[in-house]
Amino acid sequence: LPNKHISHYDLNKLTATANGLANKEEVLLLSPMSKFLPEYWDNINKLSYDHSLISLGFIIPRTNDGDEVLIKLEAAVKKTQADKKTRFKKVTILRQDSDSLLSQAEKDRHALAVQKERRAMMAVARNSLVFSTISPSTAWCLWLDADIVETPPTLIQDLMRHDKPIVSANVFQRFHNPDTNKPDIRPYDFNNWVESEEGLKIAASLKEDEIIVEGYAEMATYRPLMAYYYDAKSDIHTEMALDGIGGGAVLVKADVHRDGAMFPSFPFYHLIETEGFAKMAKRLGYTVFGLPNYLVYHYNE
Ligand code: GDP
Ligand code: MN
Repeated sequence: LPNKHISHYDLNKLTATANGLANKEEVLLLSPMSKFLPEYWDNINKLSYDHSLISLGFIIPRTNDGDEVLIKLEAAVKKTQADKKTRFKKVTILRQDSDSLLSQAEKDRHALAVQKERRAMMAVARNSLVFSTISPSTAWCLWLDADIVETPPTLIQDLMRHDKPIVSANVFQRFHNPDTNKPDIRPYDFNNWVESEEGLKIAASLKEDEIIVEGYAEMATYRPLMAYYYDAKSDIHTEMALDGIGGGAVLVKADVHRDGAMFPSFPFYHLIETEGFAKMAKRLGYTVFGLPNYLVYHYNE
């Protein structure tokens, strides 16, 4: 057998195209996971993209909660991988070596004061995850937070169809509307945005190590937020160019990460984590898009 111990991959032949499924392009689905939600797991099991082309990567915090997540995730993986109908190509579970936030309650994790520290820790976790699991045959990376509990089964094909270096879905949340006494939906993720004059002015006034985090009244950037551009009556495939993105459901051509785009855990143009990633990708010459009418749903705690 020639070259038994050498694996050759020609990155020139590795494509990431609008028609990825027909071209048998491999997808690496990446989820940082501080909670295991059965709804998330059921949802990814229903993805209609060929599972033999999808690898899964998880990173779990090294906390007591993380121990519980690991037990639940391993049980779910076992079940899914035992069934030919749902089996994925490969599953990698990483245990974080870096710090994570101890309190994950909604109100604690969203306080402005903890954002820099929390987002920096998330950035380190995301970088460890992608750079430990990406393989020479990975064509696409799908960032899907572990609390995204509902997407169309065609999520991967739908996002690929746009053929963009980075494309972000609009993250909403289902809730019971007390005003109408009916089930309703509302915007959840405000990290998908377009830069504004005011945002640039604030950035220019900051010290080198200071950051802007979007979605806080204390720092009014007046940036157009994709969350507010949702129009139920318009085409779900409408695109809008973005400058900042969240991490809820984002499809990235693997070459963007291979070229070095990562999630800065330090202020990069006064941005960190997913927002800093969008900025870095743009500095590398890539374009960043969002789909305001393409909704995915965040868990409601
Ligand atoms: P939010 O939706 O903006 O409040 O952010 P989340 O707290 O939901 O975090 C985004 C994603 O990262 C989710 O999938 C979480 O389960 C996961 N996550 C949150 N904190 C940590 C952490 O400290 N370590 C790891 N590995 N994952 C985390
Ligand atoms: Mn979340």
